Amino acid sequence: MRLRCIPVTATLSARGARGLTMGMRRHVDRCARCTTEVEAHRVMDEGMRSLRGIAHQAPAEVYPRVMDGIRPWAVPMSKPSSPRRAIVAAVAAVVTAMATAAAGTVVVLVRQRHRTA
Ligand SMILES: [Zn+2]
Repeated sequence: MRLRCIPVTATLSARGARGLTMGMRRHVDRCARCTTEVEAHRVMDEGMRSLRGIAHQAPAEVYPRVMDGIRPWAVPMSKPSSPRRAIVAAVAAVVTAMATAAAGTVVVLVRQRHRTA
């Protein structure tokens, strides 16, 4: 990899081919390695665009195996029956996270007091 290839590779990874500057494009025109990489990103971008709007559903037998593997940290996801219920569930999750953080802060403060006393 030549020194001029590094920013091309980094830009492709971060922003795609549209993020390449004119100087980078001139380098790509003269560099076989970067030309290959730009083409690979173009093919990948087309593939990702073709997947838009497709919802994948895992086979039913996979779900319990995954949940068994990641419990007790994960809980089954219930489908909200309405957008309002989804908002209520999101607010409840945020409130729970905030309460957990507050409780953790209190525990840390109490432990520090015991150490200094
Ligand atoms: Zn190059």
